[in-house]
Order: sequence, then C-alpha cells, then structure tokens
Amino acid sequence: MADNPLHPDTLAVHAGRADFAELGVHASPIDLSSTNPLPDIEHGGDSYESMATGGHPLAMGGNVYGRLWNPTVARFEQALAELEYAETSVAFSSGMAAVTAAILAHTTSVGKKHVLAVRPLYGGTDHLLDSGLLGAEVTFCDADEVGAHVRDETGLIVIETPANPTLDLVDIAAVVGQAGSVPVLVDNTFATPVLQNPLDLGATMSLHSATKYIGGHGDVIAGVIACTEETAIRLRSVRAITGAVLHPLAAYLLHRGLATLPLRMRAQQENAVRLAEWLSTHPGVSAVRFPGIDGDPQGIMQRQMRGPGAMVSAHLHGGYEAAAHVATNVKLFTHAVSLGGVDSLVQHPASLTHRPVAPEARPGADLVRLSIGLENIDDLIADLDQALRR
Ligand SMILES: *Cc1c(COP(=O)(O)O)cnc(C)c1O
Repeated sequence: MADNPLHPDTLAVHAGRADFAELGVHASPIDLSSTNPLPDIEHGGDSYESMATGGHPLAMGGNVYGRLWNPTVARFEQALAELEYAETSVAFSSGMAAVTAAILAHTTSVGKKHVLAVRPLYGGTDHLLDSGLLGAEVTFCDADEVGAHVRDETGLIVIETPANPTLDLVDIAAVVGQAGSVPVLVDNTFATPVLQNPLDLGATMSLHSATKYIGGHGDVIAGVIACTEETAIRLRSVRAITGAVLHPLAAYLLHRGLATLPLRMRAQQENAVRLAEWLSTHPGVSAVRFPGIDGDPQGIMQRQMRGPGAMVSAHLHGGYEAAAHVATNVKLFTHAVSLGGVDSLVQHPASLTHRPVAPEARPGADLVRLSIGLENIDDLIADLDQALRR
C-alpha cells in the first residue's frame, strides 16, 4: 500500500468506509448479531472452517458467529491497516489480549518456546512475559544484544518504542537487522500510526493498545495489530480459539476515533513539546524524559518518527513524596492510569502501571508520567506549577 496516493489525514477520515454507498449509510453500521443465518449446512460449515483457521468468511456462508467475524470490527481493522500502510490488521478485546495473541501465535502454536524482550515495556506486558503464564521462556535483554540472544527456538522479539514509561527509544530497523528471520513485534501505542509505521522499518507486527490514542476519549478498551495477511491468519486463529474478540460497539467508537487521530496527535504533541520545555527549566524537576529532548544523539527519532508524541515523563526532586504531592494536588490533570485521551492525566508508574515489574526493571520512585491532552497549554502549565509547589 506504499503507493497509496492518499495522505494519512484523508485515510483517517475515509478508510474502512468502502461499502457505505452500497449500503446507503453515512456512519458505520453497528452489527450486534451474535449469530448469523446460514444458507445451508455445507456453505455454513465451509465458512466456519475458513474462519476458525484464521481466514475470512466465505461470501456464501455468511459470518456464522460473532466470535469468528463481525463486519463493524472488520471495517475498523481495514481503516487501521490503511493508516499503518499494512495489508491488514486484527482487533482484540484489549491491548493485553493483542499482546497475548501475538505471543501465542509465534510460540507454542508453531513449536517455538523462546521470546526475547527489550525492557522497558508497559508494566502489563512485562508482567505477562515474566510470569511464564503463556508457557514461553523469556529472556530480557538490551536492544543492541538482541542478535546475541537469538536462538533456533526463538519465536518472537518484543520491543516498545517510545517505551512506557521512560520514553526510551529503540531503533526498530537495528533490532530487525539483528533478528534474522525471527518476527519482531513493536508496541506502537505511544507513537500511533500518525508518527511511526514499524512495518515500513521491517517489523512483523505493529501493536496498539487502542484504548489509548486510537480511541482517544477514554471510553473503550481495545487492542489491534497491523501486519501481513499471512501473520493475520495466525492471529485471527488464536483470537477465534481464545475468544479475545473486540465488541462491535467498541469497534464503532474506535473507527470514529480514527477520523480525528492525526488532528489530535498533532495538537496534543504541540502541547507536550511546550510542557516538556517548561518542565525542563522547573526547579522541582531533575530531568525530563521526552523523545528528542536530549537532542536525539543517536538520531533514532529522526530516522523512525515524525514527531515526539504527547507523553512526557519527569523525574522530581524529592522522590516519592514529591510525586505523591503532585498526584494529589493537580486540579485540571486527572490522577489516573491510562493515556492518550483528549484530557490530561498524571500517574506514578512505580506505584501503579509498573508495580508488577521486577524491582531491578521498575521505574524510579521519583518518576511521574504525564499524558498531555487538548486543553489550553497555559492552563496545563499553571496547574502543574501549583501542584509542584510545596
Ligand atoms: C495500556 C498499554 C497496553 C495494554 O493495553 P490495554 O488496552 O490496557 O490492555 C500495552 N502497551 C502499552 C504501551 C500500553 O500503554
């Protein structure tokens, strides 16, 4: 799809709507059917077989059952795929369901048992990998050590960039170069397809917690993975078997959210740049973590991103006490986990999102993570300024 002549802003508004004119509708129809009438046993059975093994419904056989296929979800998947310049995408009931499916599809079900992961990662992903719950053996390593740790049994490499919550950047193309034939999963939640397209850099899967920027309004839990049709077959098969499907109402909201994603990202990013600059001169702040704020010495941001995004983390003088003070004294910011919505949030990763992470990999107690929204930047700065005062 690299030769698609339409720009991302246009795709965001029009993608996944190809059948609207034929249907005579202007908004995505929400199909809530849990089951579907079948033409006859033979065609129903063939369609069931196709979808249970990760394929598409056969036109004659219909969609059969809501755990296998839903047209409202499929329209969102089509739209997200176009924004990622991917062949297709597969949506899940949460970001963690998507991570789980990616691991299962590339380990046990294909006879591999080893996963390589680069920290830091989202706390839930780190916890899932570290727990051994999915039966995979996991090695955590640095991005430049990936090649040294790849073995015959390695089924998947997991990276996240910018990483949650430190905003560290991982050079996607460099990891892909070390991976050989091992598939690389990039958690692209923080950058969104607007700022970064991992598949163009050779990654196998670009994963989003769609709960965050893609939904953008704090009212949907969802996950999605952009990939080739070949990879999608494996992922859909795991989804059909484990049942981690996205609800059609959620898919409708996500598809609607996509239309404003480029606009929201640019406006939130503009606020974040201002806020990061202001924070870096604040006497209560010892260091700001924001892509490019260090001048991008390795040029990673320049090579793979179209902008720094809208997440900012800050180390506070006064450690845990100072972080707790900010969390309880903000008035405009909401003290809450999650991120990527139109309103600004603040949270303390060591106590909340990254609590289940092993102590040696857990973020410091002096770190607060800010998700910058669409409010007026002066109001946001004034709020943080009063909350930082002690
Ligand atoms: C929130 C998040 C997840 C998990 O997504 P859920 O939708 O909460 O299951 C995964 N990765 C990143 C980077 C996240 O921020």
